[in-house]
Amino acid sequence: MAYPESARTYSARYWLGVVVFAVAYYLLAEFGLWIAPFIHGSVTAFWPASGMAIAVLVLFGGQYWPGILLGGFFASFGTVPAYVALSFGVGDSLAALAAWWLLIRIGQFRPQLDRVTDIIKLTLWAAPLAALISATIGTLALLLLDDLPSDKWLNVMMVWFLGDMIGNLVVAPALMVSYANRMFTPDRAQFVELLAVLLSMILLVSGLHLHWFGIANFDPQFILIIPFVVWAALRLGLIGTALTVLVAAFLAVALVLGDARLSGVKIPYIDVANLQLLLAMSVPGFLIAAALAEHKDSERKFEKLARHDSLTGLANRAALLVELEYAVAQAERRGTEVALLFMDLDRFKNINDTLGHAMGDLLLQELAQRIRNSVRQDDFVARLGGDEFTVLLQGEYAAESAAAVAQKILDAMRLPVLLQGHEYVVSGSIGIAALNGAVPRTPEIDPTDATLELMRQADTAMYRAKRQSSGFMYFNVNMDSNSKLQLRLENSLRRALENHEFELYFQAKVAAGSGRIVGCEALLRWRHPVHGLIKPDKFIEVIESIGLMIPVGAWVLREACQQMQRWQQLGLPMQRVAVNLSMRQFLQPDLLAVVNQVLADSRLEANCLELEITESVAMSNAKQTIETLTALKQRGVHISIDDFGTGYSSLSYLKRFPIDAVKIDRSFIQDLAPDSDDAAIVMATIRLAHAMNLSVIAEGVETVQQRDFLLKYGCDVLQGYLYSRPVSADDYSILLRAGSL
Ligand code: C2E
Ligand code: CA
Ligand code: CA
Repeated sequence: MAYPESARTYSARYWLGVVVFAVAYYLLAEFGLWIAPFIHGSVTAFWPASGMAIAVLVLFGGQYWPGILLGGFFASFGTVPAYVALSFGVGDSLAALAAWWLLIRIGQFRPQLDRVTDIIKLTLWAAPLAALISATIGTLALLLLDDLPSDKWLNVMMVWFLGDMIGNLVVAPALMVSYANRMFTPDRAQFVELLAVLLSMILLVSGLHLHWFGIANFDPQFILIIPFVVWAALRLGLIGTALTVLVAAFLAVALVLGDARLSGVKIPYIDVANLQLLLAMSVPGFLIAAALAEHKDSERKFEKLARHDSLTGLANRAALLVELEYAVAQAERRGTEVALLFMDLDRFKNINDTLGHAMGDLLLQELAQRIRNSVRQDDFVARLGGDEFTVLLQGEYAAESAAAVAQKILDAMRLPVLLQGHEYVVSGSIGIAALNGAVPRTPEIDPTDATLELMRQADTAMYRAKRQSSGFMYFNVNMDSNSKLQLRLENSLRRALENHEFELYFQAKVAAGSGRIVGCEALLRWRHPVHGLIKPDKFIEVIESIGLMIPVGAWVLREACQQMQRWQQLGLPMQRVAVNLSMRQFLQPDLLAVVNQVLADSRLEANCLELEITESVAMSNAKQTIETLTALKQRGVHISIDDFGTGYSSLSYLKRFPIDAVKIDRSFIQDLAPDSDDAAIVMATIRLAHAMNLSVIAEGVETVQQRDFLLKYGCDVLQGYLYSRPVSADDYSILLRAGSL
């Protein structure tokens, strides 16, 4: 909308534009002259051409001004001498150029007129300025022509000014608004309402006018225009308002001038001016409409806020659902693809519990940034809450490229995060669900269901990826049947306890030197009515996830203690039974009471019970752990750290905990070749543990070589298939009778 930069802009197209513009100006000017009252030959109460001129310059550029000059000149040419006609044309061009310059060149102006400031700028600055310029130049030309008595000059100038003003106020906004908002299509109801407004206005105002006709020259009923304009402003938007104002202006002018023509009586200046002033009342209508548009805009902004996750600035679940539904519909229309990546951090809860929520939040913000940086600008990233993120990919190869995107995200996540001076390495799992628009889906599924289905599939795939620690995974239909299996597993586990389907197996622990049995570990087994004996790695996580770990754990504790008591009553050697405690069990507030109760009920000495907790359990809440362990220790219960070496902790960290033993994890024992890394770790662990007065247990001892190595470095207790597999209570009593392995 600036001046053309090169001569090329003054092309045939430009000149065609100028000519079209000139013709339009000419026609509207002829109309203005045709309705001119009998005040003076060339002065009219309403000059719509000026408003059109401003709108055209604003919308298409100031370079079209010659159209005004030509149109204005030819409109008056013939009725007035050529030089007067030329000065009219010059005045009109200058007026429009001044308005254009004010609007476009100074500050910002949006021809959409949806901001109050733009309405003010147009109606209170540009429109009067333009009207003043053309009225001044025009009436001065008439004075020079001696066609205008100088005592009438001010009156004529006033009418000219107001006539242009009304043209500017009524026509310019109507053109600007309908051109700049042309994307806006009013709905049927609005259209009907607009017709109703216009029709009732025309009927009411002209009905009253005809009734008044002859009684007074000035018609107060034109005030009735105002409520209609306000109605339109409140309900029909800027286009509705602009149209109503336009029709109102033509209506009022037509009625008044119709009277004058019919009666042949000249209308006094003052009445014309009154009418014009009344029409200027359209300005408040525009202001209201713009204020409402602004309000809507801020509502939209607010809505945008409601669609964002305040912690990370990413989109939230609500926004994702909307976007996803749109994407699914698009994909189906165009036959393209949509891929949804569903990501969940591994063990985020641990980090949150250990470091506190503030650190957890920092971590999430950092990760959100990394995810954002791993994807393209137009990929849609959202945080669903907690540690769940999604990425939405769209386009032709979305499904295929999802794998690369997932890998990129996982790689970015793996870089250490610095929190409170410590480096943390986070990992995540991603499930991918894809939809190919070219493959029609079952028609009875509506788009919302298709969206939710995609979410569910991605979620299922994510869980699968997490369970298999495989990073990311695509959804496939087998997963559904698997998750049905999962559901069945959950349901039968819920009944397993009351159906007495759980059993304890016992695995001997032997003193390293002598091979004498010094105790055992109680291990849970599930005797499924159909599938037979099932090991805990198949179901213990499920028990955790459906919230059954505490009752099942209590059962294990009770059963192990009672079994010990039975063996002791049979006169078998006094020994110790080790029971595994999961995180959830260990953190339960009444753990101590449960242990006390079980010991009391089974009349087992506390000294005969050992509890195995893993490092991560111990680390999860150091303060509470120390309290619980101290109380247990005072009660006489032994504590060992299970799976030692697999967690984050070091022995020096464990120094703070009142424990009795560490169990070196099976994985270190497995490849215990001399001079291997594992051998070095095992040696160091044994040495350090002994220095801290802890005894050392090695689990998973399967070979003589492993045994010999452990013996050589002074490991205290050995456990593993080399000595005995976990066996039933009955079988274990046979072992006990033998006494050593
Ligand atoms: P864990 O505490 O590390 O238990 C030792 C596991 O190693 C047992 O598997 C045992 O059968 C196996 N194992 C023992 N010696 C050898 C060996 O020489 N070679 C090999 N390859 N494996 C050996 P199981 O019984 O399947 O238990 C698996 C895990 O389930 C346990 O690991 C423990 O974390 C959990 N678990 C078992 N019973 C309970 C329970 O009552 N409560 C809780 N919370 N967890 C339990
Ligand atoms: Ca164990
Ligand atoms: Ca273990």
